[in-house]
Amino acid sequence: MTQQHRTALKELQKLDSRIHEARQRIAEFDPRFEEVEEPALVLEGELNTTRNRLKEMKLEERRLESSTVDRRDRLRRLEERLGSVRNLREEAAVSAELDMVRRSLQNDEQEALGLIDQLGKAEQRLGELEEAHAEALRVLEPRREALIAERADARSELERLEGERSVFAQGMNPDELRIYNAIRGGGRRAAVAELTEDGACGNCFGIVPLQHQNEVRHGQSLIRCEACGVILAAPEPGSAADAAPAEASTAVTEVAVASDDDDGGDEEE
Ligand SMILES: [Zn+2]
Repeated sequence: MTQQHRTALKELQKLDSRIHEARQRIAEFDPRFEEVEEPALVLEGELNTTRNRLKEMKLEERRLESSTVDRRDRLRRLEERLGSVRNLREEAAVSAELDMVRRSLQNDEQEALGLIDQLGKAEQRLGELEEAHAEALRVLEPRREALIAERADARSELERLEGERSVFAQGMNPDELRIYNAIRGGGRRAAVAELTEDGACGNCFGIVPLQHQNEVRHGQSLIRCEACGVILAAPEPGSAADAAPAEASTAVTEVAVASDDDDGGDEEE
């Protein structure tokens, strides 16, 4: 009877491995999404940089415009003053200031011309980038949608496996289930391992004492490997015989008979 529980533990472990693999498959979608989205993201970064530069240049353009308006204003007032100077010294002073303001205005105009040129180039670049970005999105969209669909499939497969596990676990001996969960919960991959042909633990390959080997083969009580802590199970009749030449012991044959009974009953302590 207990042998069935060990079989159930192995089944549970197989399910858990498949659940683990399903989770990994889902996690592997993240880099795949990144790879697909990468070209569009690069263009998006360039787009943002160009938009920010344009914004700064437009601010600069406005600053220049208002500075030009101020200077023209000043120029006009200076020209008025020049018409009403009372002596040569005053005239020289106003003329000097007029020259200075005129030079500043010329500088502003030069700067404005350069800026208009840069603005034009940046706007053209922005248009090209927007086009390239839209094109990149158009190209990647089908691949992204395919990935989304694939990931949804992987997620529902995981859900299905988790549902299967939960139903399966309900039919198991609660004590064994608790020990199994505690071992797996500790971050271990294996919680159950079969004895090897020569009586070693199938997980760490440490030799299991003879007395324990017999108890494992006869399924009397739950035996854990003293070295690595996994629950030890008798070898599957088929796989053990296939894996190792000829030497299958009589104990293994007994197990074969015992585990043929497929009832998951748990009247055993
Ligand atoms: Zn071990």
